[in-house]
Amino acid sequence: MGETVVVIGAGVSGLTTALLLSRDRANDVTVVAKHMPGDYDIEYASPFAGAAVMPMGTTEEERHWEAASWAELKRICEEVPEAGLCFQSNTPHSTRLHDGQLGRCRFPRRIKDQALSTTPKGPFAPEPWFATIFEDFRELPAAEVPRGYDSACEFTSVCINTAIYLPWLVGQLVKNGAQLKRAVVRDIREAKHLSHTGRTASLIVNASGLGALKMGGVRDASMYPARGQVVVVRSEVDSMVLASGTDDGPSDAVYAMKRAAGGGTILGGTFEVDNWESQPDPSTALRIMSRIVEANPAIADGKGVAGLSVVRHCVGLRPYRKGGARVEEEKLDDETWVVHNYGHGGWGYQGSYGCAKSVVDLIAKVQEKRRSSRAKL
Ligand SMILES: Cc1cc2nc3c(=O)[nH]c(=O)nc-3n(C[C@H](O)[C@H](O)[C@H](O)COP(=O)(O)OP(=O)(O)OC[C@H]3O[C@@H](n4cnc5c(N)ncnc54)[C@H](O)[C@@H]3O)c2cc1C
Repeated sequence: MGETVVVIGAGVSGLTTALLLSRDRANDVTVVAKHMPGDYDIEYASPFAGAAVMPMGTTEEERHWEAASWAELKRICEEVPEAGLCFQSNTPHSTRLHDGQLGRCRFPRRIKDQALSTTPKGPFAPEPWFATIFEDFRELPAAEVPRGYDSACEFTSVCINTAIYLPWLVGQLVKNGAQLKRAVVRDIREAKHLSHTGRTASLIVNASGLGALKMGGVRDASMYPARGQVVVVRSEVDSMVLASGTDDGPSDAVYAMKRAAGGGTILGGTFEVDNWESQPDPSTALRIMSRIVEANPAIADGKGVAGLSVVRHCVGLRPYRKGGARVEEEKLDDETWVVHNYGHGGWGYQGSYGCAKSVVDLIAKVQEKRRSSRAKL
C-alpha cells in the first residue's frame, strides 16, 4: 500500500484528486468534508456550476491544466454516459444568439466587454489559445456573428450535470476503496488524524475552495469570491451559448446550457467580484431570464419570462485566488506534507483533471524528497 492520504474537500477538486490517488488502490484515501455531493450550501461551489468547458487559462500552467482536463472530460462524455456529461445537441434556432446555426457551442464577443465586463477575458480573446484543442473549432465569418457582437467562435463543448457527476465521482471513489466522512477541519493539522485507517496521514491534500480563507494553518487571505447567480429551468435550449458581456451592467453575464439526463437548463448569470451574498436577488433573476428569452424566445414558447418553467434560483461563489490557483506542496512537520489544490475560480471543472494530475506529480516529488533526506541520515 502507498501513502495514507486525507483529502480535505468534496468539491470537484477534492473528489477528482481523490479519484486519481485511489486508482488501483494505490493509496489509502479518506475524503473529509463539511459539505458532500447532495448538499446545496453557499460554502460549497461545485453543485452550482453549469458546468461548461470554456477554457479561461491565462498562464501556461492554467492552459496546460485545462487542455489535459478537456481530453479526459471528452473521453468520459463519449465512454461513460452514467457520469452525467453531454455534448450539446445541434437543433437550429433562428434567434439573435443562435442565428439558425447548426450547432455546437457559440461564444460571441464584443470588444467593449474586454474593458467593461468583470467576466473572465480569456475565453473571449480574439485569437484564443484553445483553438487547437477543439477539433472542430471555427471562427465565425462576419455574416454568421450574432447581431450586436463583434465576432464569435464555435466548437463542440460539453455540459456537466453536476447533480449526477459529483455523486458519480463519489461512486468511483468508493469502488476504489476510498472512504468519505463529514467533519469540519478547524486547523489543517487535525487532518493528520482523520484517516479511516486509524493511521496518521503522511499526506494531506487541501482542496477546501473558499474554505482556505479561514482554515487554521492555511488562512489564505488572497482568496475571494466571484458570486454567480443562476436560474435552473425545465425549458430547454438546444445548444450552449456564452457571451462576453451584456448591456445590463459589468457584472451581468449571459449564458445557457442544457444539462444531461433531465437536468434542465442553466441560465446565467452574474460574475460579482467580492460579493458574498448567498440569497438570489429577484431583480437579477428577472434580468437573467429576460436576456435569454429575448435571445431565444422559443425557450419559453414565445410567452416571455412567464413562459419559463423555473426549477430553482440559486447562488454559488466561485473560489478565486489573487495570483491564481494554489497547486503546490508544503511541509507541515517532519512526517507530514500538504499538497494544496484550491483557488480555481470559474474553471474548477474544466481544470479538474489537469490539477489533480499535478497533485499526483507533486506527491511523487515529496516522496523523492523524503527518500533523499532519509538517505542523508
Ligand atoms: C454559478 C457558477 C458557475 C460556474 N460555472 C463553471 C463552469 O461552467 N465550468 C467550470 O469549470 N467551473 C465553473 N464554476 C466554478 C466551479 O464551480 C468551481 O471552480 C469549483 O466547483 C471549485 O471546486 P472546489 O472543489 O475547489 O471547491 P468547492 O466545490 O467549494 O468545495 C470545497 C469543499 O471543501 C470543503 N471544506 C471547506 N472548508 C472546510 C473545512 N474547514 N473543513 C472541512 N471541509 C471543508 C467544503 O465543505 C467542500 O466540500 C462555476 C461556479 C459557479 C458558482
